[in-house]
Amino acid sequence: MAKKVRIDEEACIGCGACTGICPDIFAINDAGKAAVVAEPTDADDASVDEAVASCPVSAISAE
Ligand code: SF4
Repeated sequence: MAKKVRIDEEACIGCGACTGICPDIFAINDAGKAAVVAEPTDADDASVDEAVASCPVSAISAE
């Protein structure tokens, strides 16, 4: 099932890992933090999980 993703902007260090893995879902905003630009679909589950696992500060939650 498609996951709902959230970014903890306080924790995000703007490393770009998530945007590299899921460029259609995450983008770096003007504040240099990751933002969710599109809700993931079912087909994105695996890459969303990868992005969550790749975030060095555990700023992404998906449920
Ligand atoms: S991987 Fe984590 S720290 Fe890096 S830009 Fe994405 S949310 Fe921010």
